[in-house]
Amino acid sequence: MKLSSVTLYLISSDLKRPFHNALGMLKKREAIIVEVKDENGISGWGEVVAFSTPWYTEETIFTSLYTLKTFLIPLLKEHPHLNHPAELASLFAGVRGHHMAKSGLEGAIWDLYSRRMKQPLSIIVGGTRASIEAGIVIASDRIESALEQLKEYKAEGYKRFKLKINRKNVLSFLDAIRADHPDVPLMADANSSFTLDDLPLLRQLDQYKLLMIEQPFSYEDLADHRLLQAEIKTPVCLDESITSYNAARNAVALGSCEIISVKMGRMGGWQQALQLHSFAQEANIRLWCGGMIEFGISKAHNIALSSLPGFTLPGDFSPSEHYWEHDILTEPITVKNGEIEVSKQPGIGYEVDRYRLKQLTDYTEMISLQ
Ligand SMILES: [Mg+2]
Repeated sequence: MKLSSVTLYLISSDLKRPFHNALGMLKKREAIIVEVKDENGISGWGEVVAFSTPWYTEETIFTSLYTLKTFLIPLLKEHPHLNHPAELASLFAGVRGHHMAKSGLEGAIWDLYSRRMKQPLSIIVGGTRASIEAGIVIASDRIESALEQLKEYKAEGYKRFKLKINRKNVLSFLDAIRADHPDVPLMADANSSFTLDDLPLLRQLDQYKLLMIEQPFSYEDLADHRLLQAEIKTPVCLDESITSYNAARNAVALGSCEIISVKMGRMGGWQQALQLHSFAQEANIRLWCGGMIEFGISKAHNIALSSLPGFTLPGDFSPSEHYWEHDILTEPITVKNGEIEVSKQPGIGYEVDRYRLKQLTDYTEMISLQ
């Protein structure tokens, strides 16, 4: 295929309700939507999931925009002919890091490639599921509201519940939830709010029958996670630490986790996620797909990713209406009885609502690759 242009849309939208975790609070979301066109005018879509500030990773919307315009898109302009999106890994190898910027652009080209092949992206990457199980995140700083949300989501049929916790509230939140819901499939996401000094506290987690404790320590602390996993029965899941396929290999070699939350944006895109998937299947590491409080394009890519056989745990999959009054897709993503159908349409299987996209766009720029 010959790529002809890249259009970047910097968009922003308020969240329907504030999102709290151990790192901070979010009320408004910015993102960069990437549209790549080929010589026939077919469009493929990607989404850069960096946040406005470096609270979650060092990348931001601004650094992503800069990296796309200054380094990544010029590389595409030099090499606009591609046989397969897998070729992008070597093309972008000279740009270190900037995984979210790479992932947004790479994702658009995977979508474009599968639309040209007239095949769903899920099939192109080896997906085997017709539908995926949806889990949901409960991110509240008040226990009453967390309990209310859990009750509501349970009634809607979600397959597992992920509670955002921190070192101060962990025992009181889990006590309250287990008192009312002794058996719901529950996991706790610490977003790095503990240190090794908290080992006595973390040892108490086994009593709550959690599916996993997610990222208790800082993203660089693989050795500390290994010590914790050796001390507790509750599986440790790494999220922020898994910045690439190689980071995952290191974590598994050390024994730092039994489960991995895969986020394509944080890892640099599809190619890295697919490598991790093959490795995890061989190493018997369970995978699930993590959410980034994203718009529909990123979510559609994640649905395709979760259709792969190694994704054996429900991912973070709320419907479009969960965060947004209106998503940027013509047909919103919906969850029925805790499941999302994997689209059989070409590419990511959803169309972008250009009118809605325009409404949310604060800045746009088309870069010709001719
Ligand atoms: Mg997490």
